[in-house]
Amino acid sequence: MYGIYLDYQSASPVDPRVREFADRYLTKEFGNPSALHSCGLAARAALEEARSKVAELIGAEGPETIVFTAGATEANNLAIRGLAQRNAAKGKKLLGSSIEHISVLNPMKDLKKGGFDLSLVPVDGAGVVDLAALEGMLSKETILTSVMYANSEIGTIQPIREVSNLVHGKGLFLHVDATAACGKIPVDVQKDGIDLLTLSSNDLYGPQGAGALYVKPGVRIQPVLFGGGQERGLWSGTENLFALAGFGEAARLAKLEMAEESQRLSAIRDGLIKEIQKIDESYLTGHPKRRLPGHASFRFRRIEGESILLTLDAMFNIQVSTGSACSSRTLEPSHVLLAIGLKHEEAHGSMVMTLGKYSNPDQIPVVAQAVSQTVQRLRAISAL
Ligand code: PMP
Repeated sequence: MYGIYLDYQSASPVDPRVREFADRYLTKEFGNPSALHSCGLAARAALEEARSKVAELIGAEGPETIVFTAGATEANNLAIRGLAQRNAAKGKKLLGSSIEHISVLNPMKDLKKGGFDLSLVPVDGAGVVDLAALEGMLSKETILTSVMYANSEIGTIQPIREVSNLVHGKGLFLHVDATAACGKIPVDVQKDGIDLLTLSSNDLYGPQGAGALYVKPGVRIQPVLFGGGQERGLWSGTENLFALAGFGEAARLAKLEMAEESQRLSAIRDGLIKEIQKIDESYLTGHPKRRLPGHASFRFRRIEGESILLTLDAMFNIQVSTGSACSSRTLEPSHVLLAIGLKHEEAHGSMVMTLGKYSNPDQIPVVAQAVSQTVQRLRAISAL
C-alpha cells in the first residue's frame, strides 16, 4: 500500500461516489451511444447527461460545446491541429507560452514541419506569462495562441482574462489548457474569454481515459481523427461510456465541492511550504501566491530530484514527483524550469508535491521531517 501519496497531479484515485455512479455502464447499461435500440438510446442519454455536467463545470454556453476525447493530450492535439489546419489560409503563425505542457508544444512543433511558424512567449521567474511580450508577438497571421490556465510543474496560475483581452483585442483565437486547473479553481469559459479549452477527467477524480475539448459556439475547427463521425464529426470512435459518465459525475461533484476543498488544501499547502522552506538551500518554484491550492513545488541545491523522489518512496513511503510525469523518464531538465530562468543544474533538483482528497494537515510535520532527513542524507553523499 502507498503511504503518503503526494502526486495527485500525475494520477488521482477515482472518487468512490463516481465509481458507484458509473459502474452500471460497465456491465448493465453498456450500449453503444450511436445504436438506435433502447440499449443504445439509454447510453446516448447517459453520454449527454455527462456532457451537460462537464459544460456546467466550466460555465459553457451549452452541452453542444463539449467534444469528448480520451484525455487531455487528445483534446490539446484536436485544438491545435484542428484550429491551425482550419485557418491555415489566414496565416501560419502559432504562439504558445514557453511553459505549455508537451501535449501542446509537440503538436505545435510538428505543425512547423508543415510550414507553420512557432514562437514561444516568455514567462517571468515565477512562471507568469509576459503580457507585454505576448502583445508584441501577436499579429493578424497568428491563427492560434495557447496559454495554459495553470502549470502542473510549478503551480502558477496565469492571468487568463488579461491574456484573452490581448488576443481577442486583435480578433484572434485563444486555446487554454486547463487540465491542471479545472475542478481546483473556478474556470468560466465565458467570463474568462476562452475559445477552446482542454480539461481531463482524472484531474477531477474521474476515471482515466476521458477528457474534453470545449469549442466556443461559432469557432470552427477541423477533425484530426477520421472514422464513424462521433462527437459532431470532431472525434471519431465509439465513446468510452463508463469513463465519460464518470467524468460527468466527477465534474458535478467538483463544482459542488471545489470552494471548500480548495480552502482546505491551500491551508495544508501553505503549512508544507513553510516547513520545507526551513531546509537549507531550498526554494519554492512558481508563484508564491497565484498558485494552485494543492500545489507545493521546490528545488534544492546540490541534489537531484530523482534521488529525493526515490529516497522518500523507499525510506518513508511518501510519493512525490520531480515535475512532469510524462517526461520524467527522459531525465532531461524540465523545459518549464529552464523557462523560469533556472540553470540546468538547478532544474535537476526539483521536487513537486501535489495534494488531494486524502491529504490532511497531520501529514505536514511527517513529510517535512522526511524531506529534511532525505536532503541531509543525500547532500552528505552528493558529488555535486
Ligand atoms: N496538460 C497538462 C497541463 C497536464 O498536466 C497533462 C498531464 N496530466 C496533460 C495536459 C496531458 O494529460 P494526459 O496525459 O492525461 O493526456
